[in-house]
Amino acid sequence: MKKTNVKELLASTNYDQEIKLMGWVRTKRTSKNVAFVALNDGSTINNIQLVFDATEFPEKELAKVTTGAAISVNGILKESVGAGQSSEITVKTLEVLGEADPDEYPLQPKRHSLEFLREIAHLRFRTNTFGAIFRIRHHMIFAIHNFFNDKGFFNIHTPIITASDAEGAGEMFRVSTLDPENPPRNEEGKIDYKKDFFGRETSLTVSGQLEAELGALALSNVYTFGPTFRAENSNTSRHLAEFWMIEPEMAFYDIHDNMDLAEEMLKYLIKYALDNCYDDLLFLEQRLENEEKNMPVEKRTDMKLIEKLHFVLDNDFVRISYTEAIDILRNSKPNKKKKFQYPVNDWGVDLQSEHERYLVEKHFQKPVILTDYPSEIKAFYMKQNEDGKTVRAMDVLFPQIGEIIGGSQREENLEKLRNRMKEMEIPEKEMFWYIDSRRFGSVPHSGYGLGFERLMLFITGMGNIRDVIPFPRTPQNAEF
Ligand code: ATP
Ligand code: MN
Repeated sequence: MKKTNVKELLASTNYDQEIKLMGWVRTKRTSKNVAFVALNDGSTINNIQLVFDATEFPEKELAKVTTGAAISVNGILKESVGAGQSSEITVKTLEVLGEADPDEYPLQPKRHSLEFLREIAHLRFRTNTFGAIFRIRHHMIFAIHNFFNDKGFFNIHTPIITASDAEGAGEMFRVSTLDPENPPRNEEGKIDYKKDFFGRETSLTVSGQLEAELGALALSNVYTFGPTFRAENSNTSRHLAEFWMIEPEMAFYDIHDNMDLAEEMLKYLIKYALDNCYDDLLFLEQRLENEEKNMPVEKRTDMKLIEKLHFVLDNDFVRISYTEAIDILRNSKPNKKKKFQYPVNDWGVDLQSEHERYLVEKHFQKPVILTDYPSEIKAFYMKQNEDGKTVRAMDVLFPQIGEIIGGSQREENLEKLRNRMKEMEIPEKEMFWYIDSRRFGSVPHSGYGLGFERLMLFITGMGNIRDVIPFPRTPQNAEF
């Protein structure tokens, strides 16, 4: 008999049919001669109820059906008489595929803390919470490719190992096959990277942007969606050392086109989640509510998860300049009352996440796109404005997260780009390929980077980025 899955069965009204099903036991409860088992196979957040007539199964076999055990059953799909489920299965045959010793198995049917589950990340897939998160994660990956494919963008794989450190000076992970105990030295006594695998120093990429730009200047609209690595020692709830980034690059786009695309994309992704992940979102919303019950009122979120997603979907993002934002922040209550950890006084300071969140959550109560940042705090490739002190950058700021997207119109003018690189001491020689893109057939173009796990934080309402990626990499942590 062909095996089916829980999702299909719960949607089916083909009662009295024989079916075959495999999955993992979530709970078992026995009353008189009947055992009720909640079975889950990951196809959906919901379990299906299995009903065993205990007199028909050897006691020893039924005893092996414990939380976490894997079983295979044949049975009959029945319309359920009990409350809370539409159908259930009357089990005819049972095979225990893999036992899970209840004295050893760490996941018992009770609430476990997220911190505890991080310590057993190899098993946390089996909880409702992480099942929901990783199903949503899949749907979001799929939706991203859908969005760009429907728009005629081409997906480009940019390199993971790179020799360019233009963007990530000091934050890159070295890639080397040299013997760290005994590296070859040159005449000056320095490590001789000419003898290394690639004949030069190489690292893991911090962004695929520069290479994606090369693609855009021929294919017009491209995007990368790959892993990025940053050895930044920021142990926050929003930073990972290994994360995934979506980076579209578009020829003939100015910064306004760029903002339009970013807003349209984020709304498309939110709508996709609401349309395709509703059960999982509802579960996460309820989980969040339970969690917040024990918190002081002022710490609770104002909106329920699904309401918040609709709210962002239904409202235009606010678009203002960095200079306007600084004015707002300077005159804000928390700034005057010295409540910000980093006070805002002078034009030119970089914005911290507390400032970004103030603008979004308190001042505008909408997502905000900030543009025209001081060139001093932004990368060399951003298009310089006429005023000589700002660049055409755009950061998209979201509630609860702060920066979710960072992007800009790119500097297409060869001389301006060269001058900026000189000022910032970026070696032209190593970047000849990037400079060539402005020497030959240069056009106005734009792009941005969306941190995939930041998006996941927003969609799932989770508070810590370690909980929206299966195997988080953070300082001092690369287990599993
Ligand atoms: P932040 O100021 O939050 O560190 P950034 O300015 O370093 O961000 P960019 O270099 O613009 O970020 O990268 C583009 C996007 O990648 C960011 O908007 C964010 O969504 C995401 N991102 C950046 N660093 C990380 C990280 N360490 N972990 C997860 N996502 C990240
Ligand atoms: Mn950063």
